[in-house]
Amino acid sequence: MTPREVLALCRQKEIQAVDLRFMDFPGMQKHFTIPVEALDEQSFEDGLTFDGSSIHGWQAINESDMLVVPQPETAMIDPFMASTLAMTCNIQDPITRSDYNRDPRNVARKAEVYMRSTGIADIAYFGLEPEFFIFDQVRFDQNEHEGFYHLDSVEGEWNRGGGELGTGRGQQVRRREGYFPMPPTDSLQELRTEIMLTARECGIDVIGQHHEVATAGQCEVDLKFAPLLASADALLGLKYLIKNVAAKHGKTATFMPKPIWNDNGSGLHMHFSLWKSGEPLFSGSGYGGMSELAMHAIGGILKHAPAILAFSCPTTNSYKRFVPGFDAPVNLTYSFRNRSAAIRIPVHASSSESRRIEFRCPDPACNPYLANAAVLMAALDGVQRKIDPGMPLDKDVYDLPTEELGEYPKVPTSLADAVEALRNDHDFLLRGDVFTEDVIDTWIWYKTEREIEAVRQRPHPWEFALYYDA
Ligand code: GLN
Ligand code: MG
Ligand code: MG
Ligand code: MG
Repeated sequence: MTPREVLALCRQKEIQAVDLRFMDFPGMQKHFTIPVEALDEQSFEDGLTFDGSSIHGWQAINESDMLVVPQPETAMIDPFMASTLAMTCNIQDPITRSDYNRDPRNVARKAEVYMRSTGIADIAYFGLEPEFFIFDQVRFDQNEHEGFYHLDSVEGEWNRGGGELGTGRGQQVRRREGYFPMPPTDSLQELRTEIMLTARECGIDVIGQHHEVATAGQCEVDLKFAPLLASADALLGLKYLIKNVAAKHGKTATFMPKPIWNDNGSGLHMHFSLWKSGEPLFSGSGYGGMSELAMHAIGGILKHAPAILAFSCPTTNSYKRFVPGFDAPVNLTYSFRNRSAAIRIPVHASSSESRRIEFRCPDPACNPYLANAAVLMAALDGVQRKIDPGMPLDKDVYDLPTEELGEYPKVPTSLADAVEALRNDHDFLLRGDVFTEDVIDTWIWYKTEREIEAVRQRPHPWEFALYYDA
């Protein structure tokens, strides 16, 4: 869509409010609204000013005025708000008119430009599979000894985070057998279909939805693959729809990676491939039908994985997902068909066009602009330096004897470890000025001070069970 087409759409649909959205630094969407009369063709050039000082991780108060520049290709009629058109915006400095380096969308755009400049590829496709939980309600209770929260779902119930199954109103999902049960056991079928159809009406290409493995309330809604920036834009739109369809039905959706101990967590599996001049570069005659270039891309992603995870698994909660037995990766390995490896080469990717890798570490709490960009930068580094991914691991990683497993590097076990890995390994992200030193430093500072330390300093509920009577 062009600016003129957006304005025509506003007239045709009798739009009265224009909602301007952007992504903050850690990965939360923000917005403010203007009357439709305040939007003209010039607004797409000049942008609109706002105060950037109250946005997490952005400008200091003395230099706080910033510009949002609406991007017409992201225009969408908001299905939840009356007469409202929403657009995602780029962020600029109002004086220099340069793109703001801490705007995550800018990092994603620069990653695509850098990729083309290397001559390696002209499109990086990302197919994202967000998983999430839908609960009837969540109650936070900081005084309970064994936990902070109580989660209810018609499909089951947990008390105090102990994984204790109560009596749901409908059929019970059997313990950790949530994968594909039929209604009425799958009580969220209609809700997920509403999400899928609403997304398609909004121009977000959802290709399917299903219940997920966890005992109750876990869902997945899959996006069609799209170029790096477009796939991150689509994920933002989809998360907005998921949360709002859930709210409309009096429920709550969470993308927190591991809300329930001892049950499956939520991942954001990332299907990834590189293309040049309309040709799929990952297709070849090597292992799993992959090319040598694909193997080097895998080598790059596995080598830099601990640093990438600081962006793709950016919460202290993310690392509670990486435990054996819950379909989440534990070792930094790759494999044809194996779902316990960090990188899987999907078996059904038989045609050369669908040849791709599935990176299984990312989770849906990430900022997808930064996560997608970090994965692409690692893959390009792998191709440029011909990084050998080593031997595939075709056994179930969860069942391997410890001695054998010890040979494979492990997924970091905490956000602190991933942030430390990023501190020591980020040259590959700085190429083409994609992630600047300022972005890396600010990320490390923000994650350390605002999240890692904030969690570390608070007594953990399980510490009461372990130590209260010590
Ligand atoms: N929920 C799992 C994860 O954490 C994936 C399960 C699946 O897709 N089969 O990644
Ligand atoms: Mg899936
Ligand atoms: Mg899944
Ligand atoms: Mg998957």
